[in-house]
Amino acid sequence: MNSKILEIENLTVSFDGFKALNQLNFSMDTGELRVIIGPNGAGKTTFIDVITGKVQPTTGRVLFKGRNTRRLSEHQIARLGIGRKFQTPRVYLNLTVRENLDLSCNRNQNVFATLFKPTSVAERNTVKNLLETIGLIGKAEMKAELLSHGEKQRLEIGMLVAQSPDLLLVDEPVAGLTDSETEQTGDLLLNLAESHSIIVIEHDMEFVRQIARQVTVLHQGAVLCEGTIEEVQNDPQVIEVYLGQPYEQDE
Ligand code: ADP
Ligand code: MG
Repeated sequence: MNSKILEIENLTVSFDGFKALNQLNFSMDTGELRVIIGPNGAGKTTFIDVITGKVQPTTGRVLFKGRNTRRLSEHQIARLGIGRKFQTPRVYLNLTVRENLDLSCNRNQNVFATLFKPTSVAERNTVKNLLETIGLIGKAEMKAELLSHGEKQRLEIGMLVAQSPDLLLVDEPVAGLTDSETEQTGDLLLNLAESHSIIVIEHDMEFVRQIARQVTVLHQGAVLCEGTIEEVQNDPQVIEVYLGQPYEQDE
């Protein structure tokens, strides 16, 4: 098996001549939790878009588990084992927490088949474990619309995990959360990192300090610096381009 889950070589993405990513090189071991930071416009979302197949590389390549994803559709890449968590939760508000997870465990079937068929013992166990992992076991029968924003975020992370991805891509999971919800989401990601490879894009530096082992800093479409959070925070270039800037929310 390839020990690198992701290898990105000389990746450039041009939008009408503007290089959102510029000769970017990146690699990550299987089982790693990697945090990616960088100022607005650094190319973080484009980076995730290329990994998931939403955007095609102009030049360079992306290898997932050693396989070039170039000609694959977003759907095919997802099926290879890449799960993406968007910033806004995408849960079914009219369904209960448990029903949302049941659906994700059965995503090849349709909604009605899932909701009205008896669930197997194995499936029930999976959903119960997931409910525990995301800290929503006490709210399993509650409609998702009644959850707090942080709980919805955790539910969506649970729905992603239900699809057993090898690599989880999580874009700004704590934007708009309270401090305690932020910490819970951090604990959840650390828990999941024991059995998954995870990339987290984040602005919130306190959260980054809570979860980060290796940090990659993007700037102007390329990797500016990589290291532990201490190394990165003390790097003069990083201080200049990122930490010296006022915080600004992006999409
Ligand atoms: P980040 O997520 O780090 O804030 P993005 O990846 O969203 O950065 O954007 C990187 C740069 O590419 C920005 O300057 C942005 O305006 C530009 N960009 C992103 N997507 C497009 C697009 N579809 N068309 C043109 N320019 C884009
Ligand atoms: Mg972005």
